[in-house]
Amino acid sequence: MKIAVSSCLLGEKIRFDGGDKHDHFITDELGKFAEFIPFCPENLAFKTPRPSVRLVKVDGDIQVHSNKTGDDLTLPLLKTSQEELTKLESQPLCGIIFKSKSPSCGMKSAKLYLENGFCDGKEDGVFMGMCRERYPLLPMEEEGRLMDAWLRENFVMQVFAYDRFETLKASTPTLGKLVRFHTVHKFMLQAKDEQLYRELGNIVANRDNHSFETVFAMYELGFKTAIGRKSSIKRTRNVLEHLAGFFKKELSTGEKEILHSHIQDYADKIVPLIVPLSTIHLYAKKYEIIYLLEQVFLEPYPKTLALRSHIDSGK
Ligand code: SF4
Repeated sequence: MKIAVSSCLLGEKIRFDGGDKHDHFITDELGKFAEFIPFCPENLAFKTPRPSVRLVKVDGDIQVHSNKTGDDLTLPLLKTSQEELTKLESQPLCGIIFKSKSPSCGMKSAKLYLENGFCDGKEDGVFMGMCRERYPLLPMEEEGRLMDAWLRENFVMQVFAYDRFETLKASTPTLGKLVRFHTVHKFMLQAKDEQLYRELGNIVANRDNHSFETVFAMYELGFKTAIGRKSSIKRTRNVLEHLAGFFKKELSTGEKEILHSHIQDYADKIVPLIVPLSTIHLYAKKYEIIYLLEQVFLEPYPKTLALRSHIDSGK
C-alpha cells in the first residue's frame, strides 16, 4: 500500500530552516503497513535551507511571495509542484498525508495574506490544491488533524478500504467478486452512510442490465465516496445492535445482557468501540456465525494499530 507524504513528516531535514517535522505515528505505526512516497515541492524549487514563503492575495489571485524579499515565487513553485504531482501520478496511491499550515502542503490551513500584511483567512497550499483537483476521491489528511483520534481512525479506515478496492480492481474483477466485496463491507458501509450503502446494493443488483464496466465504475464512485464519510457513534451503535441481532437465538440471557451493556457503554462514551466489538467477535466465533466473522467492519485495518481502543475515536 503506497501513501504519499510530505517529506518533512518523514523526518527529512528539508524545511526552509533545514529542520524536519518528523511524525512518529506516520513513520513508526502506519509505516509498518505502508510504503511512503515522499514529496517536497519547495525543496525542489528553492533547495534547503531557503527563505520561507507565504500565500498572498493579489488582485483576486493567490501568489507565493518570499517572506524575506517579497519576490513573487509563484511560477517556480507551480513548476516543481507539477513535477511532484507527475511523480505521484506514476504511483498506485491509496492516500496522501500533508504537512499542515504550509503554503505548499497545508489543507485549508495555510494562512493567506493581503498585500498590506493582514491575514485574510486560510487556504489550500499550492501543491495540496493541485492534488485535491487531481484526486477528488483519494483519502487525504494533514498530520495535524490526524492527532484527533476520531479523524485518525476514519482516515486509516478509509485508506485501507481504498487499498482493498484497488486490489479488487487489479484482480480482473467479475460481478461475483464485486458482490462478494460489497457483502463483506456491508456493516462498514452502513456505519459510514446507510443511504449510500443501499445505493451500492442497487448498483450490484444491476436491475437495469448495465455492462459490467458501467456497474463497476458506478460502484467505485459510490464506494470511494462512502468510505470518505465520517462514522458517528449513533450510526455505529445502530450497526452494533444490528450485529447483536445475529445472536438472538444463540445467546443466553446473561450473554445478551453483557453485549447490550457493552453497546450502551460505548454509546455513552464510557468504553471505546473495541469493547463491544470484541464481545461480538467472541460470540461470532463461539457460535460460528461465519457471515459476521467475514465482515470487514470487525477488523477494517491491522488490529495492532489499536485505533478503536481510544475513547475519543468515536464522536
Ligand atoms: S513544502 Fe511541504 S514537504 Fe516541503 S518542507 Fe514544506 S511542508 Fe514539508
